[in-house]
Amino acid sequence: MDVSTTLSRLGNAASSFLAGKHQLFIDNQFVDAKSGKTFDVFEPSSGQMIAKVAAADAADVDVAVAAARRAFETGPWSKMVPAERGKLMNKLADLIEANADELAQIESLDNGKPVTFARFIDIGGTIDMFRYMAGWATRINGETITPSIPGDWHVYTLREPVGVVGQIVPWNFPLAMASWKLGPALAAGCTAILKPAEQTPLSALRLAQLIQEAGFPPGVINILPGLGETAGAAIAAHPGIDKVAFTGSTEVGKLIVQAASGNLKKVSLELGGKSPVVVFPDVDMARAIPGAANGIFFNSGQVCTAGSRLYAHKKVFDRLVEGVAAEAAKIKVGPGLDPATQIGPLVSQEQLERVTGYIAAGRRDGATVVTGGKRLGDDGYFVQPTILADTNPNMSVVREEIFGPVICAIPFDDDDLDRIAREANATSYGLAASIWTTNLGIAHKMAKRIKAGSVWINTHNMVDPAVPFGGYKQSGWGREMSHNAIDLYTETKSVFASL
Ligand code: ADP
Repeated sequence: MDVSTTLSRLGNAASSFLAGKHQLFIDNQFVDAKSGKTFDVFEPSSGQMIAKVAAADAADVDVAVAAARRAFETGPWSKMVPAERGKLMNKLADLIEANADELAQIESLDNGKPVTFARFIDIGGTIDMFRYMAGWATRINGETITPSIPGDWHVYTLREPVGVVGQIVPWNFPLAMASWKLGPALAAGCTAILKPAEQTPLSALRLAQLIQEAGFPPGVINILPGLGETAGAAIAAHPGIDKVAFTGSTEVGKLIVQAASGNLKKVSLELGGKSPVVVFPDVDMARAIPGAANGIFFNSGQVCTAGSRLYAHKKVFDRLVEGVAAEAAKIKVGPGLDPATQIGPLVSQEQLERVTGYIAAGRRDGATVVTGGKRLGDDGYFVQPTILADTNPNMSVVREEIFGPVICAIPFDDDDLDRIAREANATSYGLAASIWTTNLGIAHKMAKRIKAGSVWINTHNMVDPAVPFGGYKQSGWGREMSHNAIDLYTETKSVFASL
């Protein structure tokens, strides 16, 4: 498909944003990168270039850190009462809502995802997150403690913002991931340097305009598009940054930890997953079939919690796989801005090669392709929704995160919950899992046995700003959302007063 068809579907606001200059946002100013360098942004349904964006590197990170430090230590932000911070965040949420259709179009154009999903899930989720976190601004409190030391004491704790934070986000939910990071940081009173992914920098730059419009003081939020190895690495290593928060691959998460060790900045990580979808024989098929299909195919499988291992009891395995295959065949794959599209292309040429490479490796290793398995068309980065069967635990398709619309269907023939859980847990990841059964006892017993940060019963991929989210094992460090996210952005100070 030619990019002009996609571009013609943009509204006026999104078109004029796209036609504008795409610069770094530092200290409330839009500026070029010091090096003058830019990088190209591609539209995933055509593979054609749609924008050039300023590419930050270490020198720009230095400037942004200085601005964020000033804002944190001496600027109006540091003196602002919590209610004022909350008010600004709510104002930003209102502005995002007022421009939601435009932002959804930008997100769909940049990432490839269906525009309706972008509107309700990505942009809707972003608005909800800022509003939820705005409420936390006035609810961050220490405690008074009665110690057992002889004498008269007044002992209490203060919760203070951790300082200047670096935030590195991925391309699968670009704006929503930015809100997961910025929301709690702003509520806690931190200042931030956010780096969107190089594949999808556009919505964060539109957000920067709205941040300016909302009236945040200079330096509070800085948005630095750039490459991972340059801008991202500079943020992770910077001695003037007190905390780094990262969402992305486990591989890069490990690099972030190493880079952060220089000044031992605090680190929180939300990494990959290989989430099991565990289906028991008493399942309600009418829910499990679309549930398992959505669990893997939503957002073209580019979801860290995607249900990519379908473990089903052999009594229901064949029916389930047939059902999910029929769902896969019905899905309308197309450009994100086509209103009929249900799943879009993958985000990039690199992802296309990665996902088709895994499918090829699965075939070589002896897996059977039940449905899909091929690239769609010659333009853009489309891959068919794919089900693989006859796999074994040594295959890369079973062990590694594919991050595409590919599910491995694996039967089990067991009634022992410990053994079933052991298989479901046989992965280095621990981000999420879903359990499908009509038996409450089995559901909750399994929920206990699963080693993952989120367990869903008769549903998959559910998140809410009030519910903690994060990973066991190599899926990450720390929990985002809820009051847990506030913990990531605050230090606790204990004060002992001898009276
Ligand atoms: P994916 O492999 O799915 O593209 P990544 O983990 O590579 O995901 O990317 C997530 C984010 O991490 C992006 O913003 C990317 O630019 C950034 N990134 C990539 N490499 C590094 C690095 N070495 N240091 C810091 N950030 C990085």
